[in-house]
Amino acid sequence: MALHRPTMMQHLREGGPWDVCIIGGGATGLGIALEAAAAGLKTALIESIDFAQGTSSRSTKLVHGGVRYLEQGKVALVAEALRERDRLMHNARGHVDDYGFLIPVKRRWAQFYYGVGLRLYDLLAGSHRWGRTEWVSRKEVIGRLPHLEQIGVIGAWRYRDGRFNDADLALGLACTAARLGAVLVNHCRAERFIKEGGTITGVELRDAWTGDTFSIQSKVVVNACGPASDALCRLDDPTHEDRLRPSQGIHLVFDADILKGDDALLIPKTDDGRVLFAVPWLGKVLVGTTDTAVETIQAEPRALEEEITFVLDHANRFLGMQLRREDIRSVFAGLRPLIQGRRDNTAKLSRSHEVESSASGLIQVRGGKWTTYRKMAEDTLQFIAKRGPLTFKPADTSAELLDMDRGERGMHPPDPESLESAVRLAAQEEMCMTVDDFLARRYRTLFLDALAALAVAPEVARCLAEEHGMDDAWTQGQVQSFTQLAAHYLPANTL
Ligand SMILES: Cc1cc2nc3c(=O)[nH]c(=O)nc-3n(C[C@H](O)[C@H](O)[C@H](O)COP(=O)(O)OP(=O)(O)OC[C@H]3O[C@@H](n4cnc5c(N)ncnc54)[C@H](O)[C@@H]3O)c2cc1C
Repeated sequence: MALHRPTMMQHLREGGPWDVCIIGGGATGLGIALEAAAAGLKTALIESIDFAQGTSSRSTKLVHGGVRYLEQGKVALVAEALRERDRLMHNARGHVDDYGFLIPVKRRWAQFYYGVGLRLYDLLAGSHRWGRTEWVSRKEVIGRLPHLEQIGVIGAWRYRDGRFNDADLALGLACTAARLGAVLVNHCRAERFIKEGGTITGVELRDAWTGDTFSIQSKVVVNACGPASDALCRLDDPTHEDRLRPSQGIHLVFDADILKGDDALLIPKTDDGRVLFAVPWLGKVLVGTTDTAVETIQAEPRALEEEITFVLDHANRFLGMQLRREDIRSVFAGLRPLIQGRRDNTAKLSRSHEVESSASGLIQVRGGKWTTYRKMAEDTLQFIAKRGPLTFKPADTSAELLDMDRGERGMHPPDPESLESAVRLAAQEEMCMTVDDFLARRYRTLFLDALAALAVAPEVARCLAEEHGMDDAWTQGQVQSFTQLAAHYLPANTL
């Protein structure tokens, strides 16, 4: 079934009661919707803004085991993620690239240390391995990346990991879940739980598009709200104490010519023990990330000045680059839904996940990472099957092919001649409702070049207004709010 919002909304309102209602349309929620629909359950998913509008469009774009977690001794977590990496490569055919990552090395002990770690990484992948880690000589490294000469490299390790378009994969999960029978609706917020005898039996929702409030009934309700999941828990139980310790990460985006050659770069340890990547992506290069503990959860988190300075400074110092503020094409920030630990440093908090149920039956899924979304969904369905009241057999989705036939969604909005048809298609079949939906996630223009996104926003708004039957005031409002949003993707003084 196409993601056509009016049709999906009608099914949502009239098609209940549901077996499972999932709240949150990021990687976690969409993965669970797919898994539940594959198991034959009557499944609904509600997303308050847009599919992947939260953390799931703001990642480093890696499908990976996570080399740095090896240093923290998280061998099982890495092995699990490496298995999922391979499955995703198969299931999202052509949409996960097997990519080379270079770790520049300056000292002999570091050559030995990282060499052992990366060989273990290869070993843990077992039969899911993608080629072997190899040593690249100083001559070859400098031949490809002359700026590394300045930092005195003796060579580099090259290992393999995956690269993907996160928002596009999210849409692929939504389309696949819909094909398997799930009903999914964006711009619709869960506002209150309905309970009978202390047990959750439904959810009160607000349709942000019309302002209507309505209720649906569901036997099981799943909280997949990522960094906002503690807030949803408090709707269920006002005394709920935070289980998450969200951490912000930002990326700076530059033109492709800052990084020559075909490989991504990884600095394994910055001043404060973080890793920093430079990843070629959709015709640009992403440099990041940071790990800053945050107190407030915002739908549109903003990069802090000190984070921008940190990334620029470290890329220049550790990679011999000469990046300047005015070269930044876009800055985007995301919040990691990390599970609380006793550690102060969020960079060391676990990236694994947990599934549990509240006293009133709300199923909570926390933590994890994009790469392991399928395993998180599998664990959630197994938890639900054990707990009742639904009786079903979880499906095996390890080889389920995802609906990813929307073509390459690159950097640019389509050229002026095809822009209109691209907007119309996205509105009719991909539930694209706003200028932000189109320019940030159906296409990635806002993330890659915020000025380019601003330039086409009025035309996108005009086409969307025609598709959705909206008036001039709506069109102007869309351009205005998108202009305000895009300002946060441009560091100060760039506009
Ligand atoms: C900087 C950074 C880099 C990362 N890089 C990688 C990487 O390279 N590879 C990797 O595997 N992982 C990476 N991750 C981790 C990964 O992106 C996240 O673990 C994953 O996207 C979390 O998905 P989620 O669905 O749990 O949360 P989200 O994507 O945030 O989804 C939650 C959704 O719930 C919705 N919601 C909230 N409240 C309500 C409500 N009341 N009603 C309805 N909907 C609601 C929100 O709008 C949101 O869309 C990175 C994370 C960050 C921050």
